[in-house]
Amino acid sequence: MLTQSIEETWSQFLDFVRKQCSNAEFQNWFAPIKAFESKDQGVILEVPNIFVREYLMDNYRRELASFLPVDDRGEPIVTFQVVQTINKPLQDVIEIKSDEDLTVHFPLKLNQNYTFSNFIEGPSNQFVKSAALGVANRPGKSYNPLFIHGGVGLGKTHLLHAIGHYIQEKHKKLKVQCITTEAFINDLVDHLRNKSVDKMKRFYRSLDVLIVDDIQFLQSRLNFEDEFCNTFESLINQNKQIIISSDKPPSQLKLSERLIARMEWGLVAGIGVPDLETRVAILQHKAELKGLRIPNQIAFFIADHIYHNVRQLEGAINRLSAYCKLMGLEVTQDVVEKTLNEMLQFNPSKKVTIESILKSVASMFNVRVSDLKGTSRTKDVALPRQVAMYLAKELINDSLMKLASHFGGKTHSTLLHSWNKIKTQIEKDEQLKRQIHMTKQNLEA
Ligand code: ADP
Ligand code: MG
Repeated sequence: MLTQSIEETWSQFLDFVRKQCSNAEFQNWFAPIKAFESKDQGVILEVPNIFVREYLMDNYRRELASFLPVDDRGEPIVTFQVVQTINKPLQDVIEIKSDEDLTVHFPLKLNQNYTFSNFIEGPSNQFVKSAALGVANRPGKSYNPLFIHGGVGLGKTHLLHAIGHYIQEKHKKLKVQCITTEAFINDLVDHLRNKSVDKMKRFYRSLDVLIVDDIQFLQSRLNFEDEFCNTFESLINQNKQIIISSDKPPSQLKLSERLIARMEWGLVAGIGVPDLETRVAILQHKAELKGLRIPNQIAFFIADHIYHNVRQLEGAINRLSAYCKLMGLEVTQDVVEKTLNEMLQFNPSKKVTIESILKSVASMFNVRVSDLKGTSRTKDVALPRQVAMYLAKELINDSLMKLASHFGGKTHSTLLHSWNKIKTQIEKDEQLKRQIHMTKQNLEA
């Protein structure tokens, strides 16, 4: 019997997975892999970094086992070799001179109040918070990069600083830097002007943990994007931890495909608008920090009428506290209405539309609205599409036929099928349940 060469087997495997995943996923994870065979080690897969190996083993172990030789437990027999490709910025290793104290020029500045213990947990941020804690506990060893996205005032910067504090405390030897994207760009501009870019590169590439806030400001800053991407790759390839925040998920940022793909390498986690109970808890926590006592009923009233984001709630507390201290008053309903009048919103329940559902689901699941309306059946689009159909039926009072027509001309039975499927799945899939809960809250906020 003729046996196939590993090259042939691998190319069949690639043909097979190409049909299972999106093109971006394929280019990102599979295209860079080289397969060959050695006499004593058997099948070797050459991968550009450990994430590719982990991704492959986490998601395609079964498929690998059906193409490659397996051991007696059915596990694929394969050796991974991490090889850093030439002409990647990684090779751009810059020698660090020992007499240069790089930290002096870039002190780490963190807001003292932005700690994990001051961060109130609720369904809208639980997942992100545990991911942040996970990364802070084991920098470079769990999710890398960790990408946190969400609207303004929902606690992104707070979490980034909390990670910074925690690592400083718990891993004293690690070198951490936390910067805004604006500061990174300004820094680069300064160093370009002073012809000292090398020094800057040395600094960033000597870090163990790099925290970058508001990456959306890198959009349409082409030259800076390249430099950022190089720094990013250089750190990631050395297993250094990167944490990024943004107002949108990576796929919705106008950045190069290369950078978007890199940012999607690790864990992308969304932070949503907190529900009423969480808003009350945050309010009470902030009030306590200011030494202000708010009766629970009044805290509920405020949280019920200020619901867009946490920053607004904080503004309300500041104003209330200043007024009460100045006038020597207790917090009463009267005082609240007088001081917060123009901040309180009295028209809550927003009308949910198909378009808003599509947008919310796209953002939560990191896909495009056009994907949800389209016909692709790859896994990463099919599930969010079913979720959108489920939410459409749950939240909009319209005929199934009409609702289905928004999803690339699907029939009402497809919509019903999706609804049933998701309904059953959330009974046993905690993460999906949480994602749907958050999407709903974002819609209704
Ligand atoms: P973002 O960076 O997402 O725009 P911030 O992190 O600046 O938002 O948060 C705005 C304010 O709200 C900060 O003062 C922060 O401490 C507070 N905040 C947000 N979420 C929480 C939370 N879950 N618990 C406590 N405070 C929060
Ligand atoms: Mg911020």
